[in-house]
Amino acid sequence: MTLAMTDEDLAFRDEVRRLLREQLTPDLVRATRLNTSVFSDPGPSLRWHRILHARGWVAPAWPLEYGGTGWSLVKRWIFETECGRAGAPSLSPLGLRMAGPVIMHFGTPQQKAHYLPRILSGDDYWCQGYSEPGSGSDLASLRTRARRVREADGTEAYRVDGSKIWTTHAQHANRMFALVRTGEDTPRRQEGISFLLIDMQTPGITVRPIRSISGDHEVNQVFFDDVRVPIEARVGDEGQGWTIAKYLLEFERGGAIQAGRLRAALERVLLLDTEGRLNSDPDLALALSMIELDIDALEATELRVMATMQVGQNPGSSSSSMAKLRWSEIHQSITKLGVRLLGDDALAWESLRPLDEHESDAGLADVARPIISQYLNARAYTIFGGTSEIQREIIAREVLG
Ligand SMILES: Cc1cc2nc3c(=O)[nH]c(=O)nc-3n(C[C@H](O)[C@H](O)[C@H](O)COP(=O)(O)OP(=O)(O)OC[C@H]3O[C@@H](n4cnc5c(N)ncnc54)[C@H](O)[C@@H]3O)c2cc1C
Repeated sequence: MTLAMTDEDLAFRDEVRRLLREQLTPDLVRATRLNTSVFSDPGPSLRWHRILHARGWVAPAWPLEYGGTGWSLVKRWIFETECGRAGAPSLSPLGLRMAGPVIMHFGTPQQKAHYLPRILSGDDYWCQGYSEPGSGSDLASLRTRARRVREADGTEAYRVDGSKIWTTHAQHANRMFALVRTGEDTPRRQEGISFLLIDMQTPGITVRPIRSISGDHEVNQVFFDDVRVPIEARVGDEGQGWTIAKYLLEFERGGAIQAGRLRAALERVLLLDTEGRLNSDPDLALALSMIELDIDALEATELRVMATMQVGQNPGSSSSSMAKLRWSEIHQSITKLGVRLLGDDALAWESLRPLDEHESDAGLADVARPIISQYLNARAYTIFGGTSEIQREIIAREVLG
């Protein structure tokens, strides 16, 4: 796909390329290429985050008044595409694309003044406390409870008990946004849910690691035992959590530009084809063509979602679901093609993480090292952020009627 670019856009593209040439160091690029899990590791990701923050470019989607860039749709596309192509680490979306938009939309002036600059600077690293054992797709069944109590000093606070699961990067985060049950006897169970911002250092919080099939530690179970959360840390009204959660999910699923990064991932996988099998094997050639067409189609959807957000609206649940559904499945197809091209070497297992900080213990070259773990990790893409079945249900309900 080509967008109509003005001279100003082309000059901007040169500016982005200059930044990438000057500031995106080879070790950051290597860390991105060897990354096996959903998000980049916080080490390289935060280094890149701070470089972009210093340039004023860390939150292109935010309104100018909160520290955004005021870029046009085309400029945002250029930026994301160039970063993807150059191999820049991806930034954690949990603050920039989830907590941030929610606080901007529903937060008090005090919450905005406190949290938004800390998200921009990278001083706060967030995790998402939605899912619970037994409450994933059926999120409204969540049971982690926040009781409102009067403390000995006379102040009111919530006391939180329960557990969250599959919490990505909770081991690195100093903040969690969480859905908790504040009302038991509401007519609809959604009405009893509130949205809290929790300091992960608070006594009573325990983070237990879960090792995934790909060998990575990216998810956790988080336990809350009588955890004190100030009333001022609630976003919106008590009982408004479900509305806020849905607003946030639209940003989680949509609003990103994945096409550039998918193309970059595909290009890396193609480096494995040292014997020209993509030309000689019609099956592989077909798989490659399908992926290329799918990326083009996704890009058109992403641009449409961005155009909606550009005029100040949230993406809309069906568009976000469509984008999430497609990029997760395309990502899986790319990793599958990688395994097919890798052949027997796919049996070799890298046991040390992160890969960029360790020599290969499987005797593989850099280009081959992450492939099998990325393939295994990609199984999660059609689960987190709402499974593909749930996305299809949303699309069917809202688009097909
Ligand atoms: C790698 C990873 C990272 C994650 N990170 C986070 C995180 O940071 N924070 C967080 O809160 N959560 C996180 N999650 C949790 C994720 O959001 C849930 O796993 C997801 O919502 C599915 O819930 P579940 O696992 O309970 O599966 P279930 O809801 O039990 O679903 C099981 C199966 O049933 C299907 N199903 C369920 N309901 C329906 C229906 N109504 N119609 C059709 N099919 C249905 C599902 O599609 C799925 O195939 C993460 C998950 C993974 C794998």
